[in-house]
Amino acid sequence: MKFKSTRGGIAGIGFVDSVLMGLADDGGLLVPESIPQVDAGTLKKWQELSYPELALEVFSLYVGDEIPRADLKELVDSSYGTFRDEAVTPVKRIRPDLAVLELFHGPTFAFKDIALQFLGQLYAYISRKTGSVIHILGATSGDTGASAIEGVRGKEGIRICILHPHGKVSEVQELQMTTVDDANVLNLAVEGTFDDCQRIIKELFADVDFKRSYHLRAINSINIARILAQTVYYFYAALQLAKEGEQSAPNFSVPTGNFGDIFAGYLAGRMGLPIGKLILATNENNILESFVQEGVYQPGEFRSTYSPSMDIQVASNFERFLFYLYEEDAEATSSLMATLKTDGRIVIPADKRAAVQNTFAAYGVKNAECLEAIRACHESTGYLLDPHTACGVAASEKLASEGELTVTLATAHPAKFDESIRLVGIGQTYPEPIAALFEKSRHVTRVDGSTEAIKSELLRFF
Ligand SMILES: *Cc1c(COP(=O)(O)O)cnc(C)c1O
Repeated sequence: MKFKSTRGGIAGIGFVDSVLMGLADDGGLLVPESIPQVDAGTLKKWQELSYPELALEVFSLYVGDEIPRADLKELVDSSYGTFRDEAVTPVKRIRPDLAVLELFHGPTFAFKDIALQFLGQLYAYISRKTGSVIHILGATSGDTGASAIEGVRGKEGIRICILHPHGKVSEVQELQMTTVDDANVLNLAVEGTFDDCQRIIKELFADVDFKRSYHLRAINSINIARILAQTVYYFYAALQLAKEGEQSAPNFSVPTGNFGDIFAGYLAGRMGLPIGKLILATNENNILESFVQEGVYQPGEFRSTYSPSMDIQVASNFERFLFYLYEEDAEATSSLMATLKTDGRIVIPADKRAAVQNTFAAYGVKNAECLEAIRACHESTGYLLDPHTACGVAASEKLASEGELTVTLATAHPAKFDESIRLVGIGQTYPEPIAALFEKSRHVTRVDGSTEAIKSELLRFF
């Protein structure tokens, strides 16, 4: 299996190089040269597999023989061995028409662990094989940083530095990042916003000498390994439900911001997994809703919501979907992305919009609706949703047809966003690993938001 760029400037590179490249060198995103197909007979057999066994099968289709199967199995087993639930991502039916796919049983209680535990194992493996130290640099608004740090803490051959905006992440998120005391982890609390952090990261990656001499690597959601890891739970959920006797293909409702998680679902469908509708749940940052409904993709004004991990205007994985919408035409994709730069928006014609609506439905959940969804679900079923998952449930209630089963992806544990849960008037007790964080000391360096200040911290650390 080889990978290519959505912009046409990169082709024929293997899985490991694709993982290391992150963003394609031509500015595009990496995708498989052809999407592997899984037939009905294989799907039937896969019903019997545990989560790690299933992940091994799915990854094998993309990794080919670049990593020996026994090594890949070890990477997968180590990645998912850290999860607190035996099923890794259990599917819970909370109503006849609604199942919740719990993706938050990893070390940091959010779904990003599923991809970043695997990416961490992969980076450590690559470092062992190549004998070089990998330096990871990233910015976070909360969940990604905690998850990336957990993915690589204490691992030989890896150093990680994560920037977060000082005072602008939730308390639990800050504790998860800063209470880690492994020597290969550096937390920088930047005076500024998440956008400032991202700008600094961009500038440091643009410093080619610096990037080369330190083998600087990214962890953001455009990495192909992250997408592939996320396709696995779509297979797992649909196959578990089929095994339990569910006759029809379920809808999936996906709280999304970067289009990453929902693109993984789209890819699972293109591989051959029967899926009803992909329901794209956004919050008040609803550019993706406008895209599905009107065919216009236009990033606008940033809004703060109760689901901060979806407070995103520019969906970094969106280009991958455009590429497939235009039948893998790299030239068309490049020109659409150029239009986005010059005009600030992309408009697709009616036939393309119809194709989008065939696969997706979308709804932007208002702040008040999000809290109401948490309250109503808790009252009628006793199940406590986090604000991101609540957007998924609210969207599925708007959009799924009567009698259809929808699986909503539960992307975070409610304890991570207690500030919002308290607004609904619901009290919760923290799971033990989260409660324990409050007793630990923090390791964090405060820095002003200049690229130079951060570069000198990095030079000291690396
Ligand atoms: C990151 C995140 C999302 C959005 O994921 P995308 O990759 O943008 O689709 C949703 N919920 C939570 C809790 C997250 O951390």
